[in-house]
Amino acid sequence: NVSSDLPGRVERIREAHPHSGEKIVEARGVTKTFGENQVLKGVDLDVHRGEVVVVIGPSGSGKTTLVRTLNHLEPHDGGIVLVNGETVGYRPGNDGRLIPRSDASMAEQRSNIGMVFQRFNLFPHLSVLENIALAPQQTGLMGREEAQEYARTLLGRVGLAQHASKYPHQLSGGQQQRVAIARALAMKPSVMLFDEPTSALDPELVAEVLEVIADLANDGMTMVIVTHEMKLARDVADWVVFMEDGNVVEAGPPALIFGSEGHERIQRFVRHVS
Ligand code: ADP
Repeated sequence: NVSSDLPGRVERIREAHPHSGEKIVEARGVTKTFGENQVLKGVDLDVHRGEVVVVIGPSGSGKTTLVRTLNHLEPHDGGIVLVNGETVGYRPGNDGRLIPRSDASMAEQRSNIGMVFQRFNLFPHLSVLENIALAPQQTGLMGREEAQEYARTLLGRVGLAQHASKYPHQLSGGQQQRVAIARALAMKPSVMLFDEPTSALDPELVAEVLEVIADLANDGMTMVIVTHEMKLARDVADWVVFMEDGNVVEAGPPALIFGSEGHERIQRFVRHVS
């Protein structure tokens, strides 16, 4: 049983390498069951301001489900998820007990949590600029002019300043994903979630997206990234979380996770995906 000695190790690593600062995301004992299949079995996750947490692990281990519980795209059925100290998906009722958020309250909460999907999900009938400027206008965060100006700034940041008036189908997959990142940034979220942002891309388009993500990391953006790109985990992560079978079985700084003293199970996984 490879997992038997791991939970203790997680605790020892945490004690040796406490990450610190304000917690943007705090998940405790998160569970999620589909039918008979419990895919999250009590997951804890902390993400501090400015920190990049990369979630790795075999297919089916629950990575995507975990990241989707952080903005309630997948409602958790046990445990608690806090973003900016507020309970995700639920709010305290008058008697102090948690009740489900209204759609409006959920939308407001989500506006502070940027999400980038494997498939870019751009609005096909809107130009690149409109894709990015839409949400800040619709939510009243910005007026039309300010939203468009900010969209241009973001397009520059993802290296697509020349493509503002194009439509998604006129762009490569890598370019579309960079637009999707800009669109998520447009709401000035306090955390960005990435669900396998490069796995739908042709191999030659992966690097340009990883570069944008690395730039965001350098700028201090708080991020949670599910990925099979070990290079991203090694180079950009402050903290790597290894999931297996619905549990976090190992977590720590990349040097430790991927180093020669790292757990043999992870070394095997890394050899397998690389
Ligand atoms: P990973 O991202 O690590 O590959 P997932 O979170 O996608 O893992 O999936 C974990 C498990 O949950 C898998 O067994 C998957 O089949 C199951 N699962 C995910 N989403 C659903 C769903 N909407 N309905 C039923 N089962 C699901």
